Amino acid sequence: MAAVLCATTAQSLAPIQSHSLLGAAANHARTATTFVQYDDPYSEFRNARYSNAGLLNERDELKLGAQLHREVTKKYNLTNVGLDRVDRIGQRCAKASQRPTLLYKFHVIQSREINGFSLPGGHVYITTAMLKLANDNELASVLAHEVGHVAARHSLKTLKQSQEYDDIAKSLGALTGVAGDVARDLGVTLGQIVGAGLLTFHTRDEEREADFLGVRTLPKAGFDPQGMVTMFQKLQRIEEQNSDLLGSLFSDHPDAEERISNTRYEIARMKRR
Ligand SMILES: [Zn+2]
Repeated sequence: MAAVLCATTAQSLAPIQSHSLLGAAANHARTATTFVQYDDPYSEFRNARYSNAGLLNERDELKLGAQLHREVTKKYNLTNVGLDRVDRIGQRCAKASQRPTLLYKFHVIQSREINGFSLPGGHVYITTAMLKLANDNELASVLAHEVGHVAARHSLKTLKQSQEYDDIAKSLGALTGVAGDVARDLGVTLGQIVGAGLLTFHTRDEEREADFLGVRTLPKAGFDPQGMVTMFQKLQRIEEQNSDLLGSLFSDHPDAEERISNTRYEIARMKRR
């Protein structure tokens, strides 16, 4: 799923970091310099600073987000059901995030699939099935995770690597306003990008980073970070019993166990400080 358990691409660039000492030791020989601390699953993200430098600037990111959202509304049924709750919780997470100045827009998609995803420019989507499943702390963990993807500009980084990047950047630069009419070619390209899920697929490292940013946001936003653990556990249970509700995305990447232990690590660490 594209939410807490967002789709991960098959090819993970970095070696999968093991939480166990044994696994870390085994990997150590190959990746000696990447492990600052054996037991810290998030060491590489702790000093990260985020900006649009080297990517689309924020103005063009907003234009891109508006255009992609238009394509999303063609593909999915959006609803007001539960929207107040999502917006209330989501805005609290957004204010407490690493990118608090962006204007976030939260949306609810009518679907029996438990899912969630985000797009450039601060658009975050959650399905009605996800809303039914999650209590407020758990929903906050999903939304904070998605806001984490936006803050870390994961989709913009993916876009930058795509073949269409130069054309898209040029077309967006020529657009006069966020809601401006989009050239036909660009509309077709962006429709294909939404259809293929290009910008909502993330690497395992990006998932780990969004988990990290999300769990650290929760207490600042006034939510219990334990909600991220219980959310993963609920998803894990559904995966065992009724995995078609998660689509193929989660069952392709059953790494919930690792994510639960990473989340617990960070909660314990936050309590110590
Ligand atoms: Zn994700």
